[in-house]
Amino acid sequence: MSRYIMVIDTRRCVGCMDCVVACKTENRIPEGYTRDWITETVRGEFPSLSMEIRSERCNHCEKPPCVGCCPTGASHIHDRGGVVLVTKEKCIGCKACIASCPYDARYVHPEGHVDKCTFCLHRVERGELPACVSVCPTHCMHFGDADDPHSEVSRLLASRKGHTLMPEAGTGPRIHFLT
Ligand code: SF4
Ligand code: SF4
Ligand code: SF4
Repeated sequence: MSRYIMVIDTRRCVGCMDCVVACKTENRIPEGYTRDWITETVRGEFPSLSMEIRSERCNHCEKPPCVGCCPTGASHIHDRGGVVLVTKEKCIGCKACIASCPYDARYVHPEGHVDKCTFCLHRVERGELPACVSVCPTHCMHFGDADDPHSEVSRLLASRKGHTLMPEAGTGPRIHFLT
């Protein structure tokens, strides 16, 4: 089994938004919508403050509330890597998943179904990296299998301090931000 995660080095991210543009192009995201975005936030306590710039998207949670609340099974956990996906043909657009997601990671596509980050599984299955990861000019984004102790993401997680978003929500987010 594999368990895909992303590890993002916030010290290297410059907020250039190349990841956002790459995602929109690769996944043909309609104008006015996005699967990923940049957040700038201040971390620490005065006087030890630092600016953190993060490339954010669906956290592909270990315990995704969006899956549990979906009445049709459209939102599901894929066998490969535990990636959380939406089968658009099964989605009735009820928005229960949108209401349940603490990360505001989903939107209603103009075609009527819900859409969100897929970890670019179509690329990963071809042996390629997710589009956003592949274009990052500072190489701050890393994608791989957390169940492989020799993977780059496992080694990074073991060697650097990091955090996830809203761990108190109990969703088990699988995007890790190195600080
Ligand atoms: Fe679901 Fe939101 Fe978690 Fe993504 S971030 S798996 S949409 S609860
Ligand atoms: Fe499931 Fe679609 Fe309803 Fe979301 S909007 S809960 S994916 S049927
Ligand atoms: Fe977009 Fe793919 Fe990156 Fe997800 S992994 S934000 S779908 S480019």
